[in-house]
Amino acid sequence: MTEPPLSRRRLALVILAVAIPSLALIGLGVGLILQESQLEKTRRTEADEDTFQSLAASLERIASKQRDEVARRTVENGWSSEELELNVPIILVARVVAGELLLPWQLSGQAELFDRRIHAGQFSRALLRAERLEFTNRSASQAVRAYRTAAALARDTLQQAYAQLSLARSLEKSDLAEEADAVRHDLLALSSHFVDDFGVPLSLYAAQKLAPKSRYRDALVELLLSYGKMPLHLSPQAGYLYRAIHDTLRVVSDSPLDRVKDETVDAVMEQRLDEIGSYAQATLSSIRLQEDFRSVFPRLVSQTGEHGFTLYANDRWLLSISSDTSSPAASGTDAILVVLDAAKVVREAVDSLHLAHAEYNVTVLSSESSPPNRWLGPPFQGIYAHLANTGTFRDERGVMSRVSFIMLAMVLVIGLTTLGFFLWWRDTQRELVTAKLRSDFVSSVSHELKTPLTSIRMFAETLRFRSPPNELHDDYLDTIIHESGRLTRLLNNVLDFSQIDKGTKHYHLKPMVIQQVVFAALEAMEYPFRAQNFQVQTEIDESEIRVHADLDALEQVLLNLLTNAMKFSGDRRELLVGVRKNGDHAEVWVTDWGIGIHPDDLNQIFSSYYRGENAVKTNAPGTGLGLSLVHHTIEAHHGQIDVTSELGHGSTFTIKLPLL
Ligand code: ADP
Repeated sequence: MTEPPLSRRRLALVILAVAIPSLALIGLGVGLILQESQLEKTRRTEADEDTFQSLAASLERIASKQRDEVARRTVENGWSSEELELNVPIILVARVVAGELLLPWQLSGQAELFDRRIHAGQFSRALLRAERLEFTNRSASQAVRAYRTAAALARDTLQQAYAQLSLARSLEKSDLAEEADAVRHDLLALSSHFVDDFGVPLSLYAAQKLAPKSRYRDALVELLLSYGKMPLHLSPQAGYLYRAIHDTLRVVSDSPLDRVKDETVDAVMEQRLDEIGSYAQATLSSIRLQEDFRSVFPRLVSQTGEHGFTLYANDRWLLSISSDTSSPAASGTDAILVVLDAAKVVREAVDSLHLAHAEYNVTVLSSESSPPNRWLGPPFQGIYAHLANTGTFRDERGVMSRVSFIMLAMVLVIGLTTLGFFLWWRDTQRELVTAKLRSDFVSSVSHELKTPLTSIRMFAETLRFRSPPNELHDDYLDTIIHESGRLTRLLNNVLDFSQIDKGTKHYHLKPMVIQQVVFAALEAMEYPFRAQNFQVQTEIDESEIRVHADLDALEQVLLNLLTNAMKFSGDRRELLVGVRKNGDHAEVWVTDWGIGIHPDDLNQIFSSYYRGENAVKTNAPGTGLGLSLVHHTIEAHHGQIDVTSELGHGSTFTIKLPLL
């Protein structure tokens, strides 16, 4: 049986009841989720903005503090850069006078002192003599002796060192290179503050001469690195010499003559030379800064008039001028310029914010203003930074759980609505099927009633108006009796069914002999059997079998089974009716050799209104009530009804009733 198609009205109902609310709900959910992620974005942006502002504030605080601290200490120490270890990110401390920059080597005043200190007393005379012997007389060996005398007369380290330097030169000229180198090697230990009138440390001159010789390489590297541990303090000449020595060392270290090649030693040396190289570079940058200073200076005063910050040297230097002029030694000083290592200050500032590094990455300060770089604010003149939030946002978990909650709620509501709809749809479907069965039933009952009524009327009218011959007279009356019997059975079926349906059907069970009921039924069917040429065989037990039964109801059961057997017999008009005792049961069976029942129908033929495929196909008359009545009656008798059937070969219906 096919289910009725979904009509337009029901489709509209479905849309109204399920689809529209579900769609609205999905829309609402999606809207909520979008709103939630929008909110999350806003929160994230706000958090990033806060972090950026804190970063700017922290940068300003740290840089100003270090600048002021360094400036104070420098002034207190009388501009001696030796006092400042580079554990703080200071690159350079210089003085600004009338908008000009004075570099440390100029401030120390050592270069100006040189002449006065060399040309003093007995030492000066001994030195002049030695120089005359060396340069005018060109007598190197005599000069060697004279320089030794001068050295013995030296009253301070500078005089001593200067004499030694000249001695080494003369020794070399006297072909005493080994001795010369030994003297120079001793000079390497000299502090870089012993400088000549060009501000070049005497030790650097010694280093320059030793640089091409690889055995001094390690000592020279140590020397140059020790310079790098102090803030920039070399004069331009010293800076160039420093760089030249670095260049020579690189060539020496790269030389294939270097037999012992050790990868790790090479890597360490490479790194140290790089450090030296960048210090040389920085020294030269400081000289360039001095030249540029007039244009850089305005940027050191912020828009608000405060001391500001600016970048220099490819954004590696963070420049600032100190406001600390309170110290008496600083009087007359316009300002003190402090140069900090931009990358180190940023790192310190980020650390002080206690940000998880996984979450935020700050690119180093930059003078590049294009996005994503952002200006750090008024004290930072032309300084930009980019704060990249690389991690998951703190609130993300909350957002995720809210989103999943919304989704879950949506799925739940849609699921429930769909389930509700499904149940409703299934119910409606069932009702539709029942309604169809009922309407089929009404039309088949009407049809069933019409046929016997028509024959009764026809034969009665014939008897009344035409006076048929005597032999037919009885036949006509028989037909009328039989057809009214059929009508009665049919109406009995319908009435019984309606009583069963309402729950008012009562059975009056009495002891009786079952064979009597079977004979009564066969007798009632005698006419139709005869009329349709049916051969009915019986296998009825002789001995009386007694049961408890409602006579009319049981007879009705047998009439229904016999009528069905006739209806579905097809061309083979034979029936078998049997009665026997089987254990504690009485069995009555009706067998036909007709069209049989489709296996799919076997389970359903006892349901109300149900008509099998064979009945529908063959257009057999009927209402679909017969077997459901049989089933109900037998159950009321505490019995059982079984059917065996084979399609095309016939069926046997067996009823079993408990013996009395
Ligand atoms: P109906 O009025 O259709 O006979 P019943 O309830 O008596 O209604 O029977 C239900 C169905 O069972 C029939 O429509 C038919 O398909 C099947 N059926 C009943 N008895 C037989 C039989 N003896 N042989 C074949 N099919 C039968």
